[in-house]
Amino acid sequence: MVGKRICLIGAGPSGMSVLYQAEKLRKKGRNLPEIVCYEKQSNWGGLWNYTWRTGLDEYGEPVHSSMYRHLWSNGPKEALELPDYTFEDHYGKPIASFPSREVLFDYLKGRWKKEESLRKCILFNHVVRNVDYNDSTDNFTVVAKNLKEDKLLPPEVFDYVVVASGHFSTPNVPSFPGIETFPGIVLHAHDFRDAEAYRNKRLLMIGSSYSAEDLALQCAKYGASSIVCTWRTKPMGFKWPSTITERPLLTKIEGSTCHFKDGSNYEADCIIQCTGYQISYPFLSENLRLRGENLQYLEGLYKGILWTGDGKGKLFYVGAQNEYYTFTMFDVQALWVVKYIIGDMPAPDCKGIEEYWACWVERRSKLKDCHDEIDFQTEFLDGLAEECNYGYNLDCSEIFHQLEHDKEEDILTYRDKSFASNITGTQSPFPHCTFMNAFDDSINACLGTSH
Ligand SMILES: Cc1cc2nc3c(=O)[nH]c(=O)nc-3n(C[C@H](O)[C@H](O)[C@H](O)COP(=O)(O)OP(=O)(O)OC[C@H]3O[C@@H](n4cnc5c(N)ncnc54)[C@H](O)[C@@H]3O)c2cc1C
Repeated sequence: MVGKRICLIGAGPSGMSVLYQAEKLRKKGRNLPEIVCYEKQSNWGGLWNYTWRTGLDEYGEPVHSSMYRHLWSNGPKEALELPDYTFEDHYGKPIASFPSREVLFDYLKGRWKKEESLRKCILFNHVVRNVDYNDSTDNFTVVAKNLKEDKLLPPEVFDYVVVASGHFSTPNVPSFPGIETFPGIVLHAHDFRDAEAYRNKRLLMIGSSYSAEDLALQCAKYGASSIVCTWRTKPMGFKWPSTITERPLLTKIEGSTCHFKDGSNYEADCIIQCTGYQISYPFLSENLRLRGENLQYLEGLYKGILWTGDGKGKLFYVGAQNEYYTFTMFDVQALWVVKYIIGDMPAPDCKGIEEYWACWVERRSKLKDCHDEIDFQTEFLDGLAEECNYGYNLDCSEIFHQLEHDKEEDILTYRDKSFASNITGTQSPFPHCTFMNAFDDSINACLGTSH
């Protein structure tokens, strides 16, 4: 490994797990390649690094984060708790199951700070502009830009590339007849920052997935006067409060009147497109780019990680699939990558490699509902964890199934529930107040509890 180099793109939760797992192995005396992590933001944390900005950042780069100020975890913390650094390790006491963004981000930072040297591997304010694979020399040429100095850096050569740049930043934005002359605000969920801005407003949310569900709830909580969510295939079907209703697809807009497929209409002040994100890797040359939709298994990735096209098994994607499991899955993938690079993992059978991912892609296409998806991702994660000897059982399928049932039962109260940690065994205390009444999402407020 002497003289070998890894280019890591992104210092969000996925990229940080790569640095963390590499450092742990290094401390155990393993010889690892040098890792250079390029991060286009000025801080680590990826999406969790909240910004008020929308559109372009201070350097004219597209803003990465899609998170909003009052975001609370949409799953119990027990399902994303990192086994070697629990929430109790971080906060010194049990905390409620559904933390706010600030509380989750602080927890992540705590783990990263445990390994003091991690920050030194990161070049902040450095955006990767171009990655090419060199067939003749079996390595990669990477071009990055120092944003602060507005300087394109000379090309650097790396033996491996790990892409951890996230996939919730390039909005998918459809158009609708009449939208050009809609007199109100039109935005994508990527640019939604603060639900306070929509108090007393009549909102139209286009979409029926996580963003629509959570933004509708947020806006109802913060006093929007009415919210209509539109669906293409099927409605979300939750027991919504009276301010939220669901209608079939938007067909056209006339002035501020929105018309739907069922012939009904609605006067809106604001249209929020909750229409998902594109898988986008503009900095990779065409032959290295993962493509497709945001699904639990993507075409071309052996074990959901190793790129099977050009790059001869030296290009990895961490955190590229759609997620139920988040931080723990990224962590296992990170360990898998690092161990693969240092030769601790069995090399894939070249002949079977295409069949391998094709089989998972095929299985994924047959999943019927969220419960199938949860079991699918649990099996995927368990398999990876076992293979790279992660050392902990990460199966949280029961927690996820329960979460889905809780949401079905009452979408307004699912965040008020308590779960037990599989790692510490601790049953979480109930939150300091119910989600729909919790307007202070600071760490101090969230650490207060009511039993
Ligand atoms: C609105 C929203 C709410 C969510 N809520 C939750 C939740 O409650 N719980 C949960 O567990 N998960 C949630 N998620 C999922 C979230 O994707 C993960 O928690 C996590 O942030 C993914 O980590 P990542 O490191 O893979 O990607 P990101 O967090 O997106 O980090 C990628 C990093 O790569 C950097 N980068 C990108 N391109 C380049 C480049 N060319 N050069 C250099 N750097 C680059 C970015 O600046 C960023 O720092 C949510 C996602 C969204 C969009």
